[in-house]
Amino acid sequence: MTARIIDGKAIAQEVRAEWKVRADALKARGITPGLAVIIVGEDPASKVYVANKVKACAELGLHSEHIVLSADTSEATLLEKIAGLNADPIIHGILVQLPVPKHIDSDKVLKAINPEKDVDGFHPMNVGALVIGNTLLPPCTPYGAMKLLEKCGVEIGGKHAVVVGRSNIVGKPMALMLLQKNATVTICTSKTVDLAKFTRDADILVVATGKAKMITGDMIKPGAAVIDVGINRMPDGKLCGDVDFDSAKEVAGWITPVPGGVGPMTITMLVANTVQAAERAAK
Ligand code: NDP
Repeated sequence: MTARIIDGKAIAQEVRAEWKVRADALKARGITPGLAVIIVGEDPASKVYVANKVKACAELGLHSEHIVLSADTSEATLLEKIAGLNADPIIHGILVQLPVPKHIDSDKVLKAINPEKDVDGFHPMNVGALVIGNTLLPPCTPYGAMKLLEKCGVEIGGKHAVVVGRSNIVGKPMALMLLQKNATVTICTSKTVDLAKFTRDADILVVATGKAKMITGDMIKPGAAVIDVGINRMPDGKLCGDVDFDSAKEVAGWITPVPGGVGPMTITMLVANTVQAAERAAK
């Protein structure tokens, strides 16, 4: 079998067009959805991510503010900045690009963002809402992965979904979202004994470990939908996922490439969350 490739770029464009209609409807009422992105320090990868987020907002005609703070900014100054944005009516979404410098407590920062403006979905209140199945603003990467499955018509209810990785930003929320859609969910971690036993039983396999090409074709159930969240830079400078694409595509039914799979969806869902937050604020 050769897998159908899930084209994240094309699906992202389609989803962005859907959200543009909603953003335009708000603008017709005089409300322009606004996103503020704060970056502390000079991390080159973070600068690229932030630039892409601001660009995506501009493409949809959203208002965006790109706030650059120096690496030695105090925690108190950052919290003050967030408090100002929480109170600013033209800002509907606030995102602090992680990681922040070590002298700043990232938990404190995430908790300082008004949950209604928490477009990354990392505030404990939004995490709790996801746990009880009453999602307010879902974390962007797993939200985007779910959208890919939905757009490809992959059936989730009653299927066995295996999520490899349990981070707070990808693995755990992904597992909760799959559970919400009635999958039977298994979460695997670095401590899982005989990982392949679980991955080979997965109808839907989501991999988010940060370990390049660790899932090979022989670990995949024939016909499975494989969502590769990983982004790894190889010594030759090329990007690759946590799944060995060449061997996996011979076995899987559906597979996301890296790049061009989950990545474009993450930013798309950030824009979607910003529009959704603006819609809620407008009510
Ligand atoms: P973390 O490092 O926070 O978490 C990795 C998880 O993988 C941990 O739970 C770890 O287990 C588990 N793990 C590591 N090695 C193994 C193994 N050999 N077998 C089974 N499980 C293992 O990473 P993130 O979740 O933040 O990110 C994962 C990947 O996704 C990275 O490549 C990252 O760059 C990418 N990413 C991509 C995004 C996108 O937009 N496409 C957005 C966010 C992340 P344990 O808990 O036991 O240590």
